Amino acid sequence: MERLIVVSAILPVHLQKEGREYTVKVSPGGLVTALKQALHHRKAIWVGWAGITGSISRKLKERILEEGKKEGFLLYPVSLTEEERENFFDGFSNGIIWPLFHTFQAYARFEPPYWKAYRQVNKKFAHLIKKISSPEDLIWVHDYHFFILPEYLDKLGLKNRRAFFLHIPFPNPELFFKIPWRIDMLKGLLKYDLIGFHTYIDRKNFLQCITEIAEDVDPDSTEPVVTIRFENRQVKVGVFPISIDFEYYDSFARDVRPPDKKTKIILGVDRLDYTKGLIHKLKAFRYFLEKYPQYRCKVRLVQAVAPNIKKLPEYDSLKVEFEHLVSEINGKFGTDRWTPVQYIASRIPFEKLVSYYRYSDVCWVNSIKDGMNLVGKEYAASNVDENGVLLLSEFAGAATELNNFSLLINPYDIEGTAVSIYRSLTMPAKERKSKMRQMRNHIKRFDIRWWTNTFLETAFGKKIEDFPPLEDDIPLHEILQFP
Ligand code: UDP
Repeated sequence: MERLIVVSAILPVHLQKEGREYTVKVSPGGLVTALKQALHHRKAIWVGWAGITGSISRKLKERILEEGKKEGFLLYPVSLTEEERENFFDGFSNGIIWPLFHTFQAYARFEPPYWKAYRQVNKKFAHLIKKISSPEDLIWVHDYHFFILPEYLDKLGLKNRRAFFLHIPFPNPELFFKIPWRIDMLKGLLKYDLIGFHTYIDRKNFLQCITEIAEDVDPDSTEPVVTIRFENRQVKVGVFPISIDFEYYDSFARDVRPPDKKTKIILGVDRLDYTKGLIHKLKAFRYFLEKYPQYRCKVRLVQAVAPNIKKLPEYDSLKVEFEHLVSEINGKFGTDRWTPVQYIASRIPFEKLVSYYRYSDVCWVNSIKDGMNLVGKEYAASNVDENGVLLLSEFAGAATELNNFSLLINPYDIEGTAVSIYRSLTMPAKERKSKMRQMRNHIKRFDIRWWTNTFLETAFGKKIEDFPPLEDDIPLHEILQFP
């Protein structure tokens, strides 16, 4: 019986060391949100890093397993060495690919040891997959950490069908070809049977990068899935905009209690990342308060900033600059009874998050560049009274889908964004409702089940419902022996 093996860099839960104790934390980010909803209770075998370095004790492996079982997954925690964390995770993946693919070229550090570690860890994951898989298992690999994994699967003689989805944008050739190891990366990727992207723009960029090494490549195709040829094999390349479990947010939102609401609320929910446009957001909000003084004391920006797992200096300096600007704005405009920016420096619990989604007047996504961005979709799904307005960066993948139902902004345009904030707060109720209703209908139709099944059908001719629960067919001792 075919089983689904899912591979991602980080598991949906990870360990964090606090003093001498370890705590199990929910992993941040849209990939985890989406996959947890996609695979819920399908008992997929999910292989990924557990967030700590060095070996993982039997007790900790059991704790991770227990957490996974609650959601119906079998989690295989992989341990990285400290060097692999530095050079593979923070280095090649998050110090080269992440910044470059999000158009932050100046942050990319092309250090040769990073590439060595990237190869080493891809090889390590291939060995682990060999250990746990049967020839008929289907392998679904996620994200930019595993461009060259199939090369090692091939070397180990694994013939399993394998598909890949990229959760971040793909850059144009001018940016991509700066990477010294660019051809190895492309050739590695082309060894998957299906390569999926969020948007047509990402796929076009990718296809433009491979015109010299593959055949039958048409970057301008408007077909959702195209087939190209590489080394006498057919490779499918498709567009699959990721989504959320609409029904879940919708029904959860109907029962939440409203937040304390003395003013209008503009909501921001982001991970601490330079791609999210947090500094530009504060500057635009400051400009808005200057230009429209009638809104002082009448509106506040509630901005949640969830911590990041990546340990890079850019995130430390971003935090300092962000907090400095928050203090400056609150100091300049704030009064005894009104704090313009309410900064939440931690992950918001789900119930509170959905309450803000339902009751905020505006949700503001200001990404400088974003693969998709699920926050806007979650906001719409939870905005059951259809009163809210989505202020959405045109550089988020979500803008290609939601442009007609939201107010699009250019986050670099501080003045223009301030005007859009004003427009969002003054939009007539009828227009708000109409946009929100259409947006909700769109997300309801193209929800996470649509995404999962469209991808799995294209990759393997399967639906998620076709995968049986695994029950106990993987003995615990195998997982406990995992390196
Ligand atoms: N999120 C959360 N609590 C927070 C901040 C974020 O649960 O305090 C979740 C949010 O609901 C969303 C995900 O983190 O599901 C962020 O995904 P998105 O695609 O917007 O961005 P990413 O972090 O993957 O770049």
